[in-house]
Amino acid sequence: MDLRFRSVLQLLEYFSCNPVCIRYLEAHRWQGNPICPHCASAKKPYVIEHGARYKCADKDCGKKFTVLVGTIFENTKLELRYWFAAIYLVANHKKGISSHQLSRDLGITQKTAWFMLQRIREMLREQGQLILEGTVEADETFIGGEAKNRHGYHGHKDDKGNVSKIYAGKPGKPKQPVAGIVERDGKVILKVVPNVGKKQLTSFIQDHVSTKAILYTDEHTGYSALPTQGYDQHKTVNHSKGLYVIGDIHTQTIEGFWSQMKRGIYGVYHQVSVKHLGSYCNEFSYKWNTRKLEDQDRFNHILTHTNYRLRWKDLVGRA
Ligand SMILES: [Zn+2]
Repeated sequence: MDLRFRSVLQLLEYFSCNPVCIRYLEAHRWQGNPICPHCASAKKPYVIEHGARYKCADKDCGKKFTVLVGTIFENTKLELRYWFAAIYLVANHKKGISSHQLSRDLGITQKTAWFMLQRIREMLREQGQLILEGTVEADETFIGGEAKNRHGYHGHKDDKGNVSKIYAGKPGKPKQPVAGIVERDGKVILKVVPNVGKKQLTSFIQDHVSTKAILYTDEHTGYSALPTQGYDQHKTVNHSKGLYVIGDIHTQTIEGFWSQMKRGIYGVYHQVSVKHLGSYCNEFSYKWNTRKLEDQDRFNHILTHTNYRLRWKDLVGRA
């Protein structure tokens, strides 16, 4: 299974039909050891229906399953090759890909493309609890707003075809704050927060940064409680006095991340509703965190993270 595809065309040629996609997914999710998605039994399941399905060997479970159960691909009506191509495109466009572009590239409707992108972004959510160590920078930013300075403000629609909640209404509507922390030369973690007060930022950092870390922020009061919470090595740069770098003390890594993320959000997606901002955060942090992987390795990595299924009604907020 060490084939290399260098383009979406090669990928589509290789993944010519559903059985090929399923074998590939099995190899990457299970690594040769099929696991029952219902009970996670350690017993080796029976191969049934000529390999089309498996049957759990646990006598209390005994359920039949395929590799698709419990993934975003379960119950999809689309051929898997479309999903694989979409994942490849999402993984390898640094600034992201809009549902309009994906719809044109794959010859599917924009509504389908939008739903696929939302599901794929959910897969990009970091699995497990990440703790950053070493030298860590924390900062916050605001997404949206500034509409009067950007084209596409009046009556423009978002990626889904609705007038954006951020952009609709008067210029100067509140922007949505996002808190971020990054380990230098390591991973970034983002969180959409209701405000950038002390309580929010302190607890976000406590959840994800070791107290042994050297922690750099600007002088924003939201970070001022950190030394009392065990962060002895917290140092600040005074941006309001025009100071940005004092030796090692700076927040330029996270600022570089923000500008990359904003180039994607404003350049490709044009606008993002508050409701879906978290999923865009997943996408951009995932790309940053896997930036050292080659395109195909990132594709394979995403395929191993498919244990998340999102229903249409959850996405659009209808019961
Ligand atoms: Zn089972």
